[in-house]
Amino acid sequence: MPGQSLCVIVPVLNEERMIDPLMAALVPVLEGLDLDWTVLFVDDGSTDGTLAQIRAAAARESRVRAISFSRNFGKEQAMAAGLRFAKGDAVILMDGDLQHPPAAIGEFVARWRQGAKIVFGQRGNWQAETGMRRRASDAFHATFGVLAGGRLPRGIVDFVLLDRTAVAAMNQLDERTRFTKGLFAWIGFNAAVVPFDAPARLHGVTKFNFRKLLRFALDGIAAFSTLPLRVWTVVGGLISLGALLYALYFFLKTLFVSSSVPGFPSIIVSIMFFSGVQLLSLGVIGEYIGRIFDEVKHRPLYIVAEEIGAPTANAADG
Ligand code: UDP
Ligand code: MG
Repeated sequence: MPGQSLCVIVPVLNEERMIDPLMAALVPVLEGLDLDWTVLFVDDGSTDGTLAQIRAAAARESRVRAISFSRNFGKEQAMAAGLRFAKGDAVILMDGDLQHPPAAIGEFVARWRQGAKIVFGQRGNWQAETGMRRRASDAFHATFGVLAGGRLPRGIVDFVLLDRTAVAAMNQLDERTRFTKGLFAWIGFNAAVVPFDAPARLHGVTKFNFRKLLRFALDGIAAFSTLPLRVWTVVGGLISLGALLYALYFFLKTLFVSSSVPGFPSIIVSIMFFSGVQLLSLGVIGEYIGRIFDEVKHRPLYIVAEEIGAPTANAADG
């Protein structure tokens, strides 16, 4: 449909060998869609030749734009920046390593034209990932579902199409602890799901090690649930009740049977156990306070060092 425009946002960190293969796969798909398109790379502080590759791509193709961060701010921030800079009646977010196949975009656009405001890519077969990572992901989704009330459809990844109205909604959210997948679900709108098979990475390695994934999972839970905070009220209540009953037991035992002095191990064990419970609950509170601190500082989500390609490229090409 001429007049409609689509912007494909691609966050990239050190993907110098992926820019050309990605463009080679993406452009034919976009050309076949019967709409005006742009590609917006968000360079998340790459330290290799990624930016040079993007510049070269933008020099060859005027519909390629980019913003480059002053340092690595993280993929969630890169996606937030992409959503703010993108023009178009619809935008697509996709990874730059071809694990989100461009071939699926046609189906995304079809669903959008049928009226969906958000189209989620759902990873069907993902044998490319290690069993450990799949299990960790499943465990996280189950935990998130319990804590945050099951708002996240299973297998949803950051391969998603948003209508302009949904982009505008996303752009109103300026929280710093960003769990973008959760935010997509949070804004609502009628959504469609397109399953796809995720192949293995063509070049390079994943940018998410276990530590980063754990932090991301904690961010997601802290941003969408206060249950970890509130549960200590119940735990504390139960422990106090237990202590009261135990005291009553000793009282009656001393009164009617005998008083027994030995009990050193049980004292040590209970002191250690309850110190542990207290530190654990303090730690949980700390996780939230740290994030509150991040929010109140109100620093910008990212710093843009450079923009590549005319900001009006979309209109000029349209
Ligand atoms: N990425 C990014 N900033 C980061 C980490 C990753 O922009 O701090 C990009 C990365 O270049 C890729 C996408 O996010 O385009 C997904 O990353 P990756 O493939 O490493 O994650 P995985 O597929 O292993 O979950
Ligand atoms: Mg990947």
